[in-house]
Amino acid sequence: MATLAESKFVAPIIRQTNMLINGKWIESRSGKRFQTINPVNETVIAEVAEGDAADVDAAVKAARAAFDSGPWSKMDARDRGRLMNKLADLMEANLDELAGLETLDNGKPIADARAADLPLAIDCIRYYAGWADKLTGDTIPIRGNYFCYTRREPVGVCGQIIPWNFPLLMAAWKWGPALAAGCTIIMKPAEQTPLSCLRLAELAQEAGIPDGVINVVPGFGATGAAMVKHPGIDKIAFTGHYETAQKIMIDAAATLKRLTFELGGKSPNVVFADADLDAAVAGAEFGLFFNQGQCCCAGSRVFVEQSVHDKFVEKVVARAKLRQVGDPFDPKTTQGPQVDADQFHKILSYIDKGKSEGATCMTGGNRVGTKGFFIEPTVFTGVRDEMAIATDEIFGPVMSILPFNGVDEIIERANSTYYGLAAAVWTKDVQKAHRIAAAVRAGTVWVNCYDVFDAAAPFGGFKMSGMGRELGAAALNNYTESKTVTMSLG
Ligand code: ADP
Repeated sequence: MATLAESKFVAPIIRQTNMLINGKWIESRSGKRFQTINPVNETVIAEVAEGDAADVDAAVKAARAAFDSGPWSKMDARDRGRLMNKLADLMEANLDELAGLETLDNGKPIADARAADLPLAIDCIRYYAGWADKLTGDTIPIRGNYFCYTRREPVGVCGQIIPWNFPLLMAAWKWGPALAAGCTIIMKPAEQTPLSCLRLAELAQEAGIPDGVINVVPGFGATGAAMVKHPGIDKIAFTGHYETAQKIMIDAAATLKRLTFELGGKSPNVVFADADLDAAVAGAEFGLFFNQGQCCCAGSRVFVEQSVHDKFVEKVVARAKLRQVGDPFDPKTTQGPQVDADQFHKILSYIDKGKSEGATCMTGGNRVGTKGFFIEPTVFTGVRDEMAIATDEIFGPVMSILPFNGVDEIIERANSTYYGLAAAVWTKDVQKAHRIAAAVRAGTVWVNCYDVFDAAAPFGGFKMSGMGRELGAAALNNYTESKTVTMSLG
């Protein structure tokens, strides 16, 4: 494993560890700070201001003022778009620093942060900048002598709670539609990875987004819960575990907040015998191992048609063995550490469960090294539908391969999960591809590809994988209210 000293890239300077409320970078009211840990070597990267209910309350006051009477509510929509484009330009100008912060805090390979996280995040802000002045209502021909029209108005103050797997990208997915719609924001980054979001908020200030429009309150689950309960927040957008979403639903009941959730998955990746097998193998590797397996849409149930099963296994195991696990600042690294000790131990316990339930570990299955949260790329065969490694979201580099026979069988088995985030199918038969695409109960279906994301294409879950959609025009529905205005024409 390459050491940090051998890296070509160096970790960036950490400029900001305070919280942002009403344009001021401040300590928490309690004075508390929490540590963010380097997953490569388990050392402390920085101590970050920890928000509690009092800080959330201050952030809500700032966001309410900016929304209700402040500059944001008075600004022309086109000017909002202009500021968002300026933010995207600043993200581009500071791409190396932001990618470095992401790699330092999260452990993801710098090559991925530079080639995926940053370009997607920048594109997302630009895409929504274009929407700012295009949110129009309708004129409606109602009965009688009236003029009736609808207005699309911002939903208000938005509480946004994000996870640690794509910290900057998740911030962009949430800020983009909120800012375009004219909402103001209180964001809580994940406790594991607050650094890139804090820097992004500095850039938003530099871009000229007025004070109070974006507030960032780092902290743990309790900070998020304080946001969910606060009567001054109109909407909560949350990405994370479904059990947290269940708590949020309960906490949000008192104030009947608008809720959108993007949750987990156990996505089926279905390889038919008539597929381009090498492409399917490459897609299965990418679909599962990308980002250390820490993707809500990871293709973690790889169903392979019986007649090509053995050939597929041989090829995918060979590819898994070639993955470069190590220092994420080494540009050659394809797999860094898992984000923290909790995830690391959870993944290893699932690997143990897989073995004890009788699946065959074809490669991997162990920790790499003795420091940091590195796990070998792991592939299980002989997996049955009821095994824990086939039902539960592992969120790690663990692939479960399950054989199947025919279209009817695979539709039933692909759908036998409480999740419904994503699915993929590999086949050269167009009819089969469309049949699967229609029958699988998931928010996204990829055909002969995996993890193709675009700011314009909606993303979200069926069933317990979520509520509402992010990205595309669809996300704007979550950040706007429709108002009907009816005027007598005498
Ligand atoms: P993960 O398993 O990805 O860490 P979580 O759902 O635990 O998913 O966390 C996602 C985000 O939700 C984090 O920012 C976390 O601090 C926040 N969070 C955790 N518990 C709560 C809660 N009860 N209410 C609101 N936010 C919470």
